[in-house]
Amino acid sequence: MFDSVLIANRGEIALRVQRACRALGLRTVAVFSEADRDLPHVALADVALCIGPASATRSYLDQAAILFAAKASGAGAVHPGYGFLSENAAFAERVEAAGLVFIGPRPDSIRLMGDKIGAKRAMRDAGVPCVPGGDDALTGELDEARVAAAAIGYPVILKAAGGGGGRGMRVVAADGKLADALAVTTEEARRAFGDGRVYVEKFLAHPRHVEIQVIADAHGNAVWLGSRDCSLQRRHQKVVEEAPAPGLAADLVDAIGQACVEACQRIGYRGVGTFEFLVEDGAFHFIEMNTRLQVEHPVTEMTAGLDLVQLQLRVAMGERLPIAQEDVVSRGHAIECRINAEDPTSFAPSPGLIAAWSAPGGPGIRIDTHASAGYRMPAHYDSLLAKLIVHGDSRADALARLRVALDEMRVGGIATNLALHRRILRDDGFVAGGVDIHHLERLMAAR
Ligand code: ADP
Repeated sequence: MFDSVLIANRGEIALRVQRACRALGLRTVAVFSEADRDLPHVALADVALCIGPASATRSYLDQAAILFAAKASGAGAVHPGYGFLSENAAFAERVEAAGLVFIGPRPDSIRLMGDKIGAKRAMRDAGVPCVPGGDDALTGELDEARVAAAAIGYPVILKAAGGGGGRGMRVVAADGKLADALAVTTEEARRAFGDGRVYVEKFLAHPRHVEIQVIADAHGNAVWLGSRDCSLQRRHQKVVEEAPAPGLAADLVDAIGQACVEACQRIGYRGVGTFEFLVEDGAFHFIEMNTRLQVEHPVTEMTAGLDLVQLQLRVAMGERLPIAQEDVVSRGHAIECRINAEDPTSFAPSPGLIAAWSAPGGPGIRIDTHASAGYRMPAHYDSLLAKLIVHGDSRADALARLRVALDEMRVGGIATNLALHRRILRDDGFVAGGVDIHHLERLMAAR
């Protein structure tokens, strides 16, 4: 169906996709900005084309430039990675209109799930439990919002229907704060996401963030590949992820996984996807679906023993899923640390030249990164430098291996959050497992 893939991304994920394509014998086309000439996937690709200046809006987000590069290079498919254009339904449509395969769900699935209100409604219809709250956007009328919030019970959270990346959310503690919060969130949503629709749901005080990985083919087959816990967050951004989510009742997780599979089949979903839930007092509440490969996919690969990116490419080629639900295993435990180039106290990005780089190794250790000694990290993109992923026979084994790996890892010349990770790995709460989404911020405040 296609034998060459254009990788419409950069950094570690572009290299990850490059490797999966190569393992399947597919030709690759790298597109890069002027700031990214030296990335490893650019050197490894069969064809590499510069598509614009460093600014992402003029390169990785420039749909016309990417489509032109695909035509010029004879690519048959486009892999969007994560971020950038990966959840842009209009881009997926343009790719298909150009006669290329978009390696992801159908554009209408991206559109449905990209609208958090529509996604919640679809999930509720499919029998997936959601965070308490209405299934409709607020009109902007204060009286209506007050009635809705009172019915849910304070505290509530106002969320932008088109929000993402941890932005466009505001917690409202009491009725007196609602008017301002509604005005500010609506305005912010309009400016940041071009969609001013806002909805209200219950603000859960101490939930965990638990997600379910799914993959579906174009023939109506879908499986779920286990759970992940991504509760360690700073400003709604994930810092550490693990699989499986520790300490949850297995039959409950099974039932939720099965409901996710049924939801996929109901909407004709195709490709990889993640259903995100908040779990409080043992109950699951759906918050949103990500219709793409996620940063934290490797922890699932390690426990399921699968190459998710290869599977993603194969279902995009029209193949049937090679596994049924009864073939899916969860072996041992995996943990991922997002190593960011950032100042340890201000958290400001810390780009620049990596003067020294020493990566850990040994059984069960995996590093997904585009960085190495001599690499100059540009200031134009996100600060993710490397993902350190470990696997062990048990959670305790994985924790022990990860501690050793973090102590071995050295990055010189730029600031990183390695010290924060070392601290997390020695924190009693995290080591016990099952902490809530505020745990990391509490830990940092305690210093
Ligand atoms: P985004 O698309 O920006 O990632 P999400 O809807 O996935 O937004 O929410 C991101 C994070 O915000 C969650 O992991 C959680 O920490 C917090 N959050 C979202 N909704 C709620 C809620 N109803 N109650 C408490 N925390 C929430």
